[in-house]
Amino acid sequence: MEALRVVELYSGIGGMHYALKGSGISAQVVAAVDINPTANLVYQHNFPDTPLWNKTIEGITLDVFDKLSFDMLVMSPPCQPFTRIGLQGDITDARTKSFLYILHLLPRLCRRPRFILLENVKGFETSSARERLVETLKDCGYLFQEFMLSPTSVGIPNSRLRYFLMAKLSTETGSSGFSAQVPDVVLQSGSSGQDTAGESSSQPEASSQERRVLYKLETLVDIQRKSTQNRDESLRQIQDFLEPQTEVDLQQYLIPPRTLLRYCLLLDIVQPSCRRSVCFTKGYGRYVEGTGSVLQCHLETEMQSVFAGLELCSEEEKLQRLLNLQLRYFTPREVANLMGFPQSFSFPGQISTPQRYRVLGNSLNVVLVSRLLQLLVS
Ligand code: SAH
Repeated sequence: MEALRVVELYSGIGGMHYALKGSGISAQVVAAVDINPTANLVYQHNFPDTPLWNKTIEGITLDVFDKLSFDMLVMSPPCQPFTRIGLQGDITDARTKSFLYILHLLPRLCRRPRFILLENVKGFETSSARERLVETLKDCGYLFQEFMLSPTSVGIPNSRLRYFLMAKLSTETGSSGFSAQVPDVVLQSGSSGQDTAGESSSQPEASSQERRVLYKLETLVDIQRKSTQNRDESLRQIQDFLEPQTEVDLQQYLIPPRTLLRYCLLLDIVQPSCRRSVCFTKGYGRYVEGTGSVLQCHLETEMQSVFAGLELCSEEEKLQRLLNLQLRYFTPREVANLMGFPQSFSFPGQISTPQRYRVLGNSLNVVLVSRLLQLLVS
């Protein structure tokens, strides 16, 4: 089979490109487009032979797209217009302009791509941008399917619930939707491991006793949910994703005392034996709340012995207790591992640690997307 010609829009650090490689599909990225200088440096470092266009998508003409004569379009449009934390400006947000431009181009292309894969945040599924996308796809003769999926559905102990749409041109001989081909494991929306705010699956009513905070703002229900996840053997353990501990510069990654004292109750703490972690976002390492889990390195210290009655302690004692846990951030390499990036992926030396977290936080789970691409093309 001749290699599929792929256009990768909003290419970032190349999560889609790695997913294509991982899928085993014979494909060649004929153009990657992004305007983020840091992400582009990382992309170019890892894919020096791929044409990377450092320009806005809306600045590329129909004619130029036609000349690329591509078979597949993969894209992760900017998610800020749709996130729950953002203003939800949806299609009125200036950052949606380039996406609307793509929808404008699609019917006008000389040759429409046979395959499309789109990734976005939770919230996109109820947006007008998604409505316009679906209308355009129908008008252009595509069959499509949508999913809400987290890497937990492919055995990775990390929550990252995302919207995916796969579309296939219906003139493909013998193609008839996807449902029959999609195994349950991918169709389920990853109900386990959904432990960031708003991602939790429906739970039975808890009694007031069960909802009482035990320690660290956590209730019996929270603790039980986490321990259920940690026993779920369909998920791998965090330790499989860690760098050799001798290679981690602990001093650089330890949570500073100031942060411990101020935000200890908000930290999502995991141990190497756990089978869960929360979504790593671009603010990881700078902000604490909801940006990703931290790792307990001194395992002999019991969480309960640190957090029970902590509020009654003096600052000094409080800090002493917290330091016993030896809490550290996951390194960028470890975050990349949890996001399914292969060992061949690396950062150019000049990219700082906060920049690494930032571009990783914008990216996607490579293993999950590989699976989707296999289903799309099979
Ligand atoms: N999937 C990518 C990340 C996508 S995040 C990865 O694996 O890393 C969205 C990206 O879209 C960001 O890198 C941002 O720089 C880029 N972007 C946003 N608006 C753009 C536009 N109008 N033209 C080109 N790139 C744009």
